[in-house]
Amino acid sequence: MAKLNLKDIDLENKKVLVRADFNVPQDANLNITDDTRIRATLPTIKYILQGGAKKIILISHLGRPDGKRQDKYSLAPVAARLGELLAGPVKFVDECVGDKVKSEIEAARERVILLENLRFHPEEEANDAGFAKELAALGDIFVNDAFGTAHRAHASTEGVAHYLKSAAGFLLDKEIQYLGGAIQNPQKPFMVILGGSKVSDKIGVIENLLPKCDAILVGGGMAYTFLKAQNKPIGNSKLEKDKIDLAKSILEKAKGLQKEILLPIDNVVVDTVASDSKTEIVGEDIPDGKIAVDIGPKTIALFQAKLKSAKTIVWNGPVGIFEMDSFAKGTREIAKIISGLRAATIIGGGDTAAAVAKFKLEDKMTHISTGGGASLEFLEGKALPGIAALTDKPR
Ligand code: ADP
Ligand code: MG
Repeated sequence: MAKLNLKDIDLENKKVLVRADFNVPQDANLNITDDTRIRATLPTIKYILQGGAKKIILISHLGRPDGKRQDKYSLAPVAARLGELLAGPVKFVDECVGDKVKSEIEAARERVILLENLRFHPEEEANDAGFAKELAALGDIFVNDAFGTAHRAHASTEGVAHYLKSAAGFLLDKEIQYLGGAIQNPQKPFMVILGGSKVSDKIGVIENLLPKCDAILVGGGMAYTFLKAQNKPIGNSKLEKDKIDLAKSILEKAKGLQKEILLPIDNVVVDTVASDSKTEIVGEDIPDGKIAVDIGPKTIALFQAKLKSAKTIVWNGPVGIFEMDSFAKGTREIAKIISGLRAATIIGGGDTAAAVAKFKLEDKMTHISTGGGASLEFLEGKALPGIAALTDKPR
């Protein structure tokens, strides 16, 4: 069911409660080291202001304060940075519910107000109905723009939406369009590149996407459990022993569905995983004692040839230990290859997004999801509570 988005609602003279994701990284002195998440919310905030809203009341979490007020998790530094980015005043209120908050909102001359960290209250993550009602009482309408927490049923993501007309902000809506679109209605051929460290993290994604896609290209640590399932020697590469049978059954299922699963045909191997380890390229069979840390050049060429015809590509999981430069080539080449294709390229997963950013190819992808865990659950085909709770678009 399609959900209301910002463009569907009348903002004129409304108090708009906006759940944002301002969970920014900070250094020891609480300086914000990366304000991407604040910038990403600006289009939603500006649109609401331009739409004539009386006030915009921003709520967010920051870090894991475990339900207690802790100064180091205060959102005050975010209010300051947001003011700079908007080039306008932002009022910070050092609490997020209660009468004092209400009266400060009423009295504020500023149109942009940021409330203190929601997770100072244990009721937030417990999705407490009373707390959700208190949040709802602060606004006339609710806008959720926090995709990164949409897979959690918290008071500010799920609970509050039961008490107000609720719409997706631009960030959340874009995620729904691209991730949802790729899964429900992909242009074919639809190919999935899967990597990352563990099969167990990606089972749900495989099960959901296998019937929908044309091929799955597997790299990264998870590839070696699949190779092991075909009785190939994998040396000391990453192996989940208890997932070998599952890998076997996935390979069989793929065969039954006539879907291709491509595995590495050569590999970069080392004796120990360290950034200065001497690397070697070996074929499909990995010698005793060796650890595969990246896909090899033949695998890159194989994947490239396969991906050429794709119209939709979903990529989740680096194909090597890309954090170390000497093992990053496979992941970098895959990123370069797909960025040059005319296919819709959709990137999910926190590490995969970080890899694409590291290679400075962000602008060349169709969509890079802003939510790590949330994007995985989306690709698993799960309903995300923060999206499901939004008001349905009238037919
Ligand atoms: P995402 O966050 O994009 O979903 P994952 O968290 O599943 O991705 O996987 C990322 C991790 O997988 C990275 O830290 C990377 O080092 C690791 N990885 C990739 N290839 C290998 C490999 N061959 N052996 C061990 N770990 C690997
Ligand atoms: Mg990860």
